[in-house]
Amino acid sequence: MLMPTASYPYPLSGTQLPCLIDGELIRSARSFENVSPVDGRVMCTVSEADAALVDRAVQAARRALRGPWGRLSTAERCALLRKVAERIEERSADFVSAEIADTGKTLQQARSLDIPRGAANFRAFAELAMGRPAECFEMGTPDGRGALNYTVHKPVGVVAVIAPWNLPFLLLTWKVAPALACGNTVVAKPSEETPSSAALLAEVMQEVGVPPGVFNLVHGFGPDSTGEALVRHADVNAIAFTGESATGSAIMRSAADSVKALSFELGGKNAALVFADADFDAALAGTMRSVFSNCGQVCLCSERVYVERPIFERFLEALTQRARALKIGGPYEGADLGPLISRRHRDKVLSYYALARAEHGELLCGGGVPSFGDQRDRGAFIEPTIIRGLAEDARCVKEEIFGPVCHVAPFDAEEEAVGLANDSRYGLAAAVWTSSLQRAHRVARQMEVGITWVNDWFLRDLRTPFGGVKLSGIGREGGMHSLAFFSEPMNICVKL
Ligand code: NDP
Repeated sequence: MLMPTASYPYPLSGTQLPCLIDGELIRSARSFENVSPVDGRVMCTVSEADAALVDRAVQAARRALRGPWGRLSTAERCALLRKVAERIEERSADFVSAEIADTGKTLQQARSLDIPRGAANFRAFAELAMGRPAECFEMGTPDGRGALNYTVHKPVGVVAVIAPWNLPFLLLTWKVAPALACGNTVVAKPSEETPSSAALLAEVMQEVGVPPGVFNLVHGFGPDSTGEALVRHADVNAIAFTGESATGSAIMRSAADSVKALSFELGGKNAALVFADADFDAALAGTMRSVFSNCGQVCLCSERVYVERPIFERFLEALTQRARALKIGGPYEGADLGPLISRRHRDKVLSYYALARAEHGELLCGGGVPSFGDQRDRGAFIEPTIIRGLAEDARCVKEEIFGPVCHVAPFDAEEEAVGLANDSRYGLAAAVWTSSLQRAHRVARQMEVGITWVNDWFLRDLRTPFGGVKLSGIGREGGMHSLAFFSEPMNICVKL
């Protein structure tokens, strides 16, 4: 047991979360503190992997690839991945506590979304890998004997998985599961803000008998630290990264020398379009969810809400009222909004609240920091905020803020709404609220994004393509798209 379940998450004192390298839990000499965003308390320390430890992890992954793991059939690998899913479910209370301890997110969300999706990722990609269709082409030859071509899918090799802090377990497993299902070995680096659920996953990998070196975990920071050492490493074949667009650019530069395969899921500045013919209450409830879920820290969140003029004032008024009524609090208090991930991130979001004022926006609610009069005042809580009146070229309308905030603006015509939504350097997701079937299909298609929801938000089928255009990413993951990224197809041509 890595950490005593009964006393998790308070206190974690005395615990140093280890890295997992070649099947060994390693507590390094260098460590950093894991601070609770709920009350600023140091919960535990975390072993920091330097370049030498990263190198050990990559070498271990390389050896495992050439060892028994590389000789397992897809069915054997996938059977192990199903066991991982089962074990996550058995230990779901531990995972929920760990995720909450790092992020302060609500118990309800960790229980219903983050942890179940982590288990579902392993199960879904095991099934998909088992069901991958075979490809075979017969061809004619001049001597009339013919030839048979078939495709085999080999692993890409050693894969670096780099994950962010907003949905830590969901996003880490979203890449680890398909990478392993395709026969790769993995070196994973979670965000330094959220090491705990990844550390538990390392335990689970050991408990179900995943061979040493197949899944390695290194903790640490990004630039000039663990993350950079990993993406620069010459023996890493592919990088699956989720995080900020600027980090994506930095990783691309680091990876260029050794021409690694890249899959990037990056930032967003997503638009919601609310048409006057929409079901008002459904659009309102959906927009509340798409703006404020996870305290606005989901790459898919709507930060730009455009509402058709006839219902604009009514919708804005109702949205503001609901936002004012949101209960802010700790993870176990039945609150609607937990804290942001850290004080540092809160400073960034607050700087955008200040910028919105400077850019002549009107803050209809929020704009500051709540006061509790207890230890939560040392946390990273922030008020949900609705802004109106910004120019379309204001920085607050253009840049990703990643907090519980949106700008709401009116539009008069469908074409105008489409233009506003697409006028962004990002292109991840859009939400369209309308009761017209024709309009739904027409508008959805015109969105320059990777995914458009009509009359809903964050409804995910793991078989579908997921990713963004423009600054929001490169490539697609999900379903067969993940299997394609994590495999090298090879043609074998047999003369008959
Ligand atoms: P960051 O880009 O700051 O960090 C992501 C990960 O990359 C972390 O593990 C980080 O380490 C690491 N990292 C940072 N710099 C480097 C580097 N130079 N080399 C290698 N690794 C590095 O993102 P956040 O954690 O702040 O997450 C929020 C962002 O993620 C938002 O922009 C959001 O939109 C995006 N996101 C995109 C999603 C999508 O599917 N498109 C989904 C979810 C989030 P460390 O944190 O330790 O510094």
